[in-house]
This record gives sequence, structure tokens and C-alpha cells, in this order.
Amino acid sequence: MIDSIDALVVGAGFAGLRALHTLRQSGKRVQVIEASDDVGGVWLQNGYPGARCDVESYDYSYSFSPELEQSWRWSERYATQPEILRYIRHVADRFDLRRDIAFNTRMISARFDEPTSRWLVTAHNDRQWSARHLVLCVGQLSTTKSPNYPGQNDFGGRIIHSGEWPREPVSFAGQRVGIIGTGSSGMQMTPVIAHEAQHVTVFQRTPNYSIPAANAPVSEAEDQQVKANYAERRARARQSPTGLGFIPNRTSALQASAEEREQVYEAAWNRLGFGFALAYYDILLNQAANDTAAEFIRKKIRARVNDPVVREKLTPKGHPFAARRPSVDSGYFEAFNRPNVELADVRESPILEFTPTGVRTAVKHHDLDVIIFATGFDAFTGSLLKPDIIGRHGVTLREKWAAGPITQLGVSVNGFPNLLIVVGPGSPSLLSNVMVSIEEQIDWLATLLNTMDDRGIIEYEADAQAEIDWVRHVNERARETLYLATDSYYNGAEIAGKPRVFMPYSGGIRGYRRLLHQCAESGYAGFTLRPAHAEVAAK
Ligand code: NAP
Repeated sequence: MIDSIDALVVGAGFAGLRALHTLRQSGKRVQVIEASDDVGGVWLQNGYPGARCDVESYDYSYSFSPELEQSWRWSERYATQPEILRYIRHVADRFDLRRDIAFNTRMISARFDEPTSRWLVTAHNDRQWSARHLVLCVGQLSTTKSPNYPGQNDFGGRIIHSGEWPREPVSFAGQRVGIIGTGSSGMQMTPVIAHEAQHVTVFQRTPNYSIPAANAPVSEAEDQQVKANYAERRARARQSPTGLGFIPNRTSALQASAEEREQVYEAAWNRLGFGFALAYYDILLNQAANDTAAEFIRKKIRARVNDPVVREKLTPKGHPFAARRPSVDSGYFEAFNRPNVELADVRESPILEFTPTGVRTAVKHHDLDVIIFATGFDAFTGSLLKPDIIGRHGVTLREKWAAGPITQLGVSVNGFPNLLIVVGPGSPSLLSNVMVSIEEQIDWLATLLNTMDDRGIIEYEADAQAEIDWVRHVNERARETLYLATDSYYNGAEIAGKPRVFMPYSGGIRGYRRLLHQCAESGYAGFTLRPAHAEVAAK
């Protein structure tokens, strides 16, 4: 039997739950399907030791319910993965969301049926739904990426990917652990695992910039102060470029004197986390300005590591600060001062093979019991391109995006009517506090669907020209920045053969929101709205 519903939402992470709640509130029959057995999305999968959010807890949370905001008590400035998962589960229960979620149900295909303007969605267990709208909330960092070394299958110990962390506790006591990868995941887990394991070897390819988290317990006074002014805090976040509430310093880093710069950077270093990148407005726009920030961070890293050789290897060079996603760490560099932590520089001495007892590099064999792949994800498009999503004329999203993702406003694709992608390519997504992006896009969708109902419209579709214009705009904004100066998962460099295009929108949350609102106010310029009887409605 095929269930007929208004909207099918794929994924029960932060975005999927928000979509379910919001569309349900506006009277829609909604079904969520989720491949896993619980809510949480990436926060369910990334349970590795030390996992915590790089965005402050009060900002990395839903804003749609003042009662929820007031009742939830965050314990730390940067919440741990278990606390975030508790929050997501609380939201699911509080708003009675689970009853409309089919768990252990993976979408394998979605086909747009042109005569009825509906999506026919099929799951791996053959369940099917016919939905007017398809809402993809599948995550930008949810398809893991693993290396493939010679001998990998012969390794006699355990291999775990950071993004597919087992639910049951993993004990490292007495274990020799190898961590491959030094992005946010590797940097977060290293100091925590080092406390427990007998020995840790960190296999580093590219040293990463990182700012200390300045994490702290949230005091009663701070909690009350935030809650007394929560609406203002949310408004500030929405009006800021990144959705984090930081307003960039309007001065150029190059206009400030060396002493002033030192003071500004020191203050940002001690408290701001990611906000460090906005200590001057041109840090991400101008190489010379960026050099001043990068040099400050390098100096700080050098001061945190005792061994001069290890210190130099850990110091990031050759790419601008924040052009690749920097980390916000809690004791990563200091971990290398411990006698049980070793750095293996695989750029200098590549991994040649896995053996039954460890990993052999060009200089030595590392005896290991556990190997952790903190090697990242097929970012932005990985999970969108796994299922067969088939639009008009039988064209798949994979075919449409063969040369890279193309969207109108980062949410919609020509040839794929009634399909919304949440925090996907072409939107601020991973360059923003994703919570703000998620809520903006879902509220925009809810308004669109209400407008469609009011006007007897059954189909919305991005215009082909609007899509071309938007991608051009995304590229223009990226060219104003330093993001294109290096390889990163922002531009598809993390996977061999992936189209090399810059995927997120770097124009900022504030400007992006304005564009979404203008689109709605104009009656959805850049989209075609079609009524039931196929005549094209006024745009
Ligand atoms: P990532 O940033 O993509 O880092 C992957 C790391 O693995 C890089 O150091 C990469 O080196 C290395 N690597 C990949 N393949 C390798 C190979 N074959 N041999 C050696 N090294 C290899 O992945 P991630 O650390 O999982 O983080 C991904 C993103 O998730 C973050 O940027 C962030 O957006 C998000 N995240 C957020 C939080 C948070 O909010 N707290 C925490 C964790 C992650 P190269 O750089 O040389 O490729």
C-alpha cells in the first residue's frame, strides 16, 4: 500500500525534526524517514570521545519555541555530543515527533511523477509514499570517507570511523591507538583518548589551524542573563554574517598597529572561538590581513608544544587561516607534550600499508590495537547523491549535478519540482551556524507551501536561468574571499574525481536571509508556480 501524504522528509537530525514540527504546525500530513534507529543525525553517529559542538550551546539550538528555550538548561558553553543528543531527544519527545518518524528506513529512490506532480518515494524495505513535497534533510557531513590502504583488510585490530562511532562505549585502556586525520574530529578526540590509552599515534597529513574553545560550565547567572534576553540574542545571530552573533570588526587588520592587532587577537583568542576569524573584517578577504591572523595563531601553537620538531610539524602553513574549516580545540596541541602521544607526519613519511599488527610508514612500523579514521566525509553532496532522485524526463540528480551542484538559492533545483534541500550546496550551510540556516530555510518552505495552498498551486520549480544566475553569484562571492586559495571540502577537493566547484554560499546568513525574504515577497521570483490545471501562474 502506498501512503499518500503532503510532505516526506528524509532524515531525523536537527533539520528533519524542525521540518516535521513546522510543516505539521501548518496542517500538513508529514512523514519522516530515517535510516538509523533514533533521532539525532550526525549527533547520533559521531559519538567519539571528545565530540562537542564548536558553536555555543545557546546558539546551537532551536529558536522556534520560547518555552523550549527557557526550560532547557545547557551545562557547558560548548555542549558535548551526549548533551546535544539529550537535547534532540527531548525535542522529539516534547513535540511528540516520533509518531511520524519511520526509523530503520532508508530512502533508495524518489521519482517525480509529472502527471500528478507528486514524488513517489521508495525505501529499502519496499515501503512507499506518494508525497506532494520532498524535503531532503540528509546532512552535509553524513557520508563518511575512508582511506583504502594496501593490507587494510588484514589489520587484526579494530578500525572505527569517527562518523560511524559504535553506540556501546569503546574502552581504550591499555590500547595502542592510531588516529588518522587531524580535522575537527581528530583534534577533538586526541587529547581525550590520550588520557585513557596506553599510546596514541596521530597520523597528520595537513596541520590545521585551531582556536581554543574557552569552554566553561554555564553558571546560573549566565543562564538567567541569556534567557532574559534570548530574543535579542537570536536576532543578533540572524543579523550576523555567520549566524553566530559576531559582528565583524570594521577595521582592516592592516590599518591597525601591530600592538593594537596583538591586543585584538589576544582577546579573540581567549574567548571567541570561531569569532576569531572576524576579529578584523578582511581576515578572510585579503591575504596580507590573513597573514597577520595566521602568524598570531602559529605563534600560539608554538607556545603550546614543547618539542621543537613536533611543534614545527603541527604548525599550519601554506594555506590561509579559515580557508579550510579551522578547529576549535580543547587541549589538542598540549596533548603532544604527553609521553604517550606521538605525531606521524604522513606528508613527510606516507603510510605505505596496513599490516596485521599496525601501520607501516616510510620510516617505521607503528604497532596498533585500534585505528580510528578521522578522515572526514564526502561533504555537501555525498548523501544527496546516494539515492536515485529522479526528476522530470527521467533525469537523475546525479546526472544533473555531474559537473557540480547547481541550485536556485541553495534550496531548489530546476527539473526537480516540489523538492527542497535543507542546508545543501549553494546555501550558507557549513559556513554558517547551521541551526540558523536550517530554521530560515524551513520557515521559508512553510511560507511557500501556505502560499501555494492559498493560490491553488500544486507545483513549484526553480527556473533554469535563476539557477545559472545563483551559481554565478555564489562563485562571485567566493572569488571575493580566500576560500579558493586552497584545497578543501568546500570545493570538492576531499574526494578524488569530485567536481571542483565551490559549494557553500559565502555571502553570509544576513544577506542570504534577505534574499530568501525578497524571493517570497516578490511572489517567488526565480520559481515557476503551477496550478492544478497546468496553466503557468503569474510569477
Ligand atoms: P575533515 O575536516 O575533513 O578532516 C579529515 C582529516 O583527515 C584531514 O586532516 C585530512 O587531511 C585527513 N585525511 C583524510 N584522508 C586521509 C588519508 N588518506 N590519509 C591521511 N589523512 C587523511 O573531517 P572531520 O575532522 O571529521 O571534520 C569534518 C567537519 O565536521 C568539520 O570541518 C566540521 O564542519 C564538522 N565537525 C564539527 C564538529 C563540531 O562542531 N564540534 C566536530 C567535528 C566535526 P587533509 O586535510 O590533508 O585532506
